[in-house]
Order: sequence, then C-alpha cells, then structure tokens
Amino acid sequence: MEIRSNAVAIGDVPNPNATTVTEWRIDGVAVSRGVGMGSVVMFERGNQRFERIADERPNADTEISRFRLAVDRSIEELRSLIDAADVTPNGHLTDILNIQLLILEQSSFVSNVEDEMQSARLTAESALQNVQLRYAEKMASVHDPHHREKRLDIEDVCNRIAAALSGETRKQQTTYRDFVVAAHELTPSEMVEVCRQSPAAIITERGGWTSHSSILAREFQVPMVSGVKSIETKFLGGEMVIVDGQKGRIIVDPSEISLSTYAVNTEISISDGPPSEIGGGGTQTIDGTNITIRANADSEAAFTLAKQAGADGIGLFRSESLIGKPGRIPDEDAQIRAYSQIGSAVGDQGVRIRTFDIGIERYSPNGRHTEINPSLGLRSIRLSLHERSYFRVQIRALLRAAAHHGIAIVLPMISGVGEVEEAMAMIEAERKELSLKGVEHGSPQIGAMIEVPSAIFTAREIAAKVDFLALGTNDLVQYLLAVDRDNDQVSELYQTLNPAVIRALRAVIDAAESSRKPLLICGEMAGSAFYVPLLIGLGARELSMNSNSISQIRHLISGIGLADAQSLAASVDIAETADQVEAILRKFYKEHWQTLFPSGLLDAKHR
Ligand code: PEP
Ligand code: MG
Repeated sequence: MEIRSNAVAIGDVPNPNATTVTEWRIDGVAVSRGVGMGSVVMFERGNQRFERIADERPNADTEISRFRLAVDRSIEELRSLIDAADVTPNGHLTDILNIQLLILEQSSFVSNVEDEMQSARLTAESALQNVQLRYAEKMASVHDPHHREKRLDIEDVCNRIAAALSGETRKQQTTYRDFVVAAHELTPSEMVEVCRQSPAAIITERGGWTSHSSILAREFQVPMVSGVKSIETKFLGGEMVIVDGQKGRIIVDPSEISLSTYAVNTEISISDGPPSEIGGGGTQTIDGTNITIRANADSEAAFTLAKQAGADGIGLFRSESLIGKPGRIPDEDAQIRAYSQIGSAVGDQGVRIRTFDIGIERYSPNGRHTEINPSLGLRSIRLSLHERSYFRVQIRALLRAAAHHGIAIVLPMISGVGEVEEAMAMIEAERKELSLKGVEHGSPQIGAMIEVPSAIFTAREIAAKVDFLALGTNDLVQYLLAVDRDNDQVSELYQTLNPAVIRALRAVIDAAESSRKPLLICGEMAGSAFYVPLLIGLGARELSMNSNSISQIRHLISGIGLADAQSLAASVDIAETADQVEAILRKFYKEHWQTLFPSGLLDAKHR
C-alpha cells in the first residue's frame, strides 16, 4: 500500500509545515526490526558477468578447464566466507553458505554445465548462463518458497563462478555504509556484502519473513522492509527515507516532524537495549510465578549466548541442522558425536532434540524428489515412520548419547496418537536391542510437538502417551489457518493473533495441565514480547526462544503480574478478529506495562 499525503498522517503527528511538505509513505512487510534513516542507494549488481567475446566454436577442453578452475576458486571463496562467519552467532549465515558450497560440490550442477559446454560447444560463461536459466525456469514453475530460495542460491553461485571466470573477485560496487539500500531482491551473498558495510536499512521488493535474506538482515541487526512493489520505479537513488522495520513502513522525503520523532525513538531504543539487571537462576513474574526460559539453539555458540542471557537449557534443537547436502544424513556415529557435544555444552538443564523435521526433497539425494504440496506431504514424523532405517539410526544415536547427557526426544508434526505409539514402539525396540547387545544407552523422556489441527483436538490423548508436549506456534498458525508461512503473497493472512489460534493455544495448554504434563511453547510467538504476556495469561509456564530474545523477554516477564496477565487473556475472548485481539492487547499494554516494552514495539503492527 502506498499513501501520498501531507505529513500529518504519519504517526498522527501534526505537521506545522503540512501545506508545504509532502511526504510519501509506502507500506511493506517488516522483516527485520529497528529503524534506519538515510539516503537511498540502489543496489548495483555486477554487470557483464556472463559476457565474453569468444570464438564461435570454442575448444571444449579449454572451456571445461577454465570452468573447473572457476568452480575451485568459488569453493575457496565460500570456505573463507564460512570461516569468517562468526559475526552471526546463530549460525544462519554459515548454514546458507554451506548450502551454496554443496551446490558447487554437488556433481549434477557442475556436470550439467560441463555437458552443456560439450554438447552445444559453448563458452563456459554461456553454458553457465543456460544452465542457470533452466534451473530458474524449472523452479519458477513450482509455487514453493523453498524453490525460490534455491533459485536465489543457484543464482548466487553462478554469479560467483562468472566473476571467477572473468578473473575478478566479486568486487564491491558501491559503499553502502549508512545508506538505505534498495533492491528488487538480494541473494544471500549480496546480503552479506551489504550488511557487512553497516547500511542504515534495506528495502526490497521480494523476500518474506523466512527468506534467507530476511534471516540474514535480522542476524546482522539491520532494519529491513520487504514487499515494496515495483521498487525500481519508486526510487532513483538519493531520496531521503526513514525505514521503520517495526511497522513495515517507509517514509520518503520525511518532514522535520517525522525526522525528529523517529530520531528521538531511535535514541531511546538504542539506550534501552537489553536489560542487564536480571541475572541467571530463573525468571519470575512480580508475584513469584516461575516461568522457565529455554533456548532454541542448534549450536554451542548459540547456546553460549543464550546461557549468558539466562536460558535454562535448550528447548528446541532442530536436528535437521546436521543435514547439509540433500540425502546426506549423518551416520549413527556422527549423530552421536553431535548430540553428545551439544548435550555436554548444555549440562544438567538438558537439551530437547527434535527428530529430523525434513521433507522428501531434503531426504532424497540431490533433492531429486519433490512434491506438489510439500508442507502436507511425506515429511517430518511421517517420513521417519515411512523410512524406518533412517529413523532407527537417529533413535539409536539419541539413545546412546543419552547414556551420558540430559537428552529428551521431541517428535515433530504429530497428527495423532497412532503416530506417537508407532514412534514410541520403535524407540522401545531399539532400546531393547541396545540392552541385549550390552551397548550403553539412556532412557530419554519423549515429547510430542503439537502443531497441526488434529493434534490440537487430541492433545489430551497425546499428552497421556508422552512425557511432555511442545507447542510449535510457527506451524500451528500455518496449518490451523491454512496459510503458507513462507509465502509473502499471503503473509497478511498469517495471523498469530487470530482468535482461532488463541483458542487452539488455550485448548492445548488446558490439555497439558489436566494431564499433568509439562508444555513447552516454542516457535517465534514464544520469543516475541507482544505475545508473551498473553501466553502467560493463558497458562504457559515454559517458553523456548532464539538467544537474541531472551534478555528482553525475561525483563518483560519480571515486570508483569500473573493476575493481570490472566485478566488480559480472558479479555481477548470477546474478540472476533486478529485486529480486535491486537487492539485489546495494545491498549492493555499501554495502560499497564508501557515501560516494559522496547520503544516503538507497541505502535508496530502485530498479527
Ligand atoms: C514451529 O513450528 O513452531 C517450530 C518451532 O518449528 P519449526 O519452525 O522448525 O517448524
Ligand atoms: Mg514446526
């Protein structure tokens, strides 16, 4: 949405120059929080990457050896980027770069280009371009965000090879420091290139909340708004803008009033950063109710940060983070090492390891198998129960690592009691076999993720079978509302505050309580300040979140009272829409707990 108005409309701030000053407001999607101001610079993509005047019929052997050298050089570049990637402690940058490394080391891509050179007698540049176009066309025909990400990764890799073919390192086109960078779309490498120069903010046309670029922007803590349609026609470069990564708003040519309003808020949000006064040793509301805060962490580095912020162990370790290249499932020993390593880093507070939560495209070598509807297909626990030998290896590794470490097993995407029983029978069978063979092992607790509607309605029965429940709000919202969580075309419909979601949360929390089983809430909702008081009011007592959120959430919880949170939760019962729930929460927070929230958060849109 785009509104051209006198400045009065922005934040309802009256503008004394309203007759003379006109500012543009463009609404997009907030994908990385924070506010940035600066002059727009259009992102410059290196041109002429694929152009090389060459013989009409180049020598295939020469071209292939040029190409191989360029691939080797690109692999080296990616490796050194990975080595230098510790600036993003959550490890997402490393994960993304590893995906690209695997594309290069994956023979089908490299050999496809080589085949093209040979069969069509093309230069390495032309063959590379043809193969890239074929991949892009194939992926564009599938409406799946994972394919879109893969297309960007391939594009990124091709750019790198093309630069190496031309004998250049990918060079920096422009200086982005303190500028607002505008681009149609940024590949992960481009994003790293931009973010490393500390831009004021980033605006793009494409890229939803879960796209690699948005993840990287959050990791580098650069404010970003995406979903800006026809961005190239909106900006020429040089415009002064404010990018509000809380509200998902861009103000072009802002008035003095808007500039000073935002300047004040930015100062506040910098100075009131993460609260440091709360030490470790638990988190309590002001009336003394204990709330356990755990970490969503897949690496020791992420857990170290979480521990410094006061986390009690790991609530969600996504074991699929151990799978690099599609089909390369780590063997039993490698899994034991990984689980033991994280188990010993976490110590007594324990780590809840979720079994592989992947689809068939990541399970099959080279990602060859795809499904029309992967979110509803053979994935997660369904895949584990279908491909039993792969699941057995994981179970054995978990049981063996649990001999010496506080490990619990979490079963993802459970849709009913039957799957829980089947998985538990497999776990028990493996345990017996290890006993018979005299192999050391433990008896870890077992939990079920509640994230699909059928599990919500049978949560009581599921709870009776397991040691604990884990509520995955990311998928619960997706499946309950039938909204693809990664599709920015429907991001408006992805409503965490939809009354149906709140009723589902209440039902699951009640089921756990009446079954006397612990319930851990993970997913983005549990680490977001706007939702946490509501969750506590609904009865949540264990939350698991990303390391970056922990200090802020602990600070918030230690300032609220349970009775207030409960009456807040009761007050949303009358709401019929997400907007109404949001309005009730915002009003309550402003009246009761305004100072507990980071500045700007209560004025931002929350769905
Ligand atoms: C969830 O669905 O909320 C969750 C925690 O798991 P993931 O985001 O990995 O699906
Ligand atoms: Mg999930």
